Amino acid sequence: MRIEEITKEDLLLVEKAMQTLRPVADGWYHTVGAALRCKNGDVFTGVNCDGIHGSCAEFIAVGAAVTAGNRDFDTIVAVDLSPSAPNGVVSPCGNCRQMMFEYCPDMRVIVNDENGKLIKVSVRDLLPFAYVDPAQRENA
Ligand SMILES: [Zn+2]
Repeated sequence: MRIEEITKEDLLLVEKAMQTLRPVADGWYHTVGAALRCKNGDVFTGVNCDGIHGSCAEFIAVGAAVTAGNRDFDTIVAVDLSPSAPNGVVSPCGNCRQMMFEYCPDMRVIVNDENGKLIKVSVRDLLPFAYVDPAQRENA
């Protein structure tokens, strides 16, 4: 696994995710925010949406980028304002890891290491032995 150092740009991305969540954090529906930076520097954000199946914030941020015509993803981060996340950053769930792998297997994800230090790893490293759709094999 290749671990990358967090840059100032990455810390700004964490802050962007936090800014997205604060106005809508009502303790139930919107508890996670995400920010996605594309390779051209554009940033797209999202919050989780509750419902029967709901949607993680990462899906909403990726959907916003795709809607804007940008699929060249660089780095994503998700944050949670709850005390369970001391610096706010939370790891993506398995469903998000698979989705991000299918869109952009080499995109970077900001997560906490085992000591609570922010690091950056590829989504490929977060999802070993990923399912690969036959139509997507050239990306894997
Ligand atoms: Zn998720």
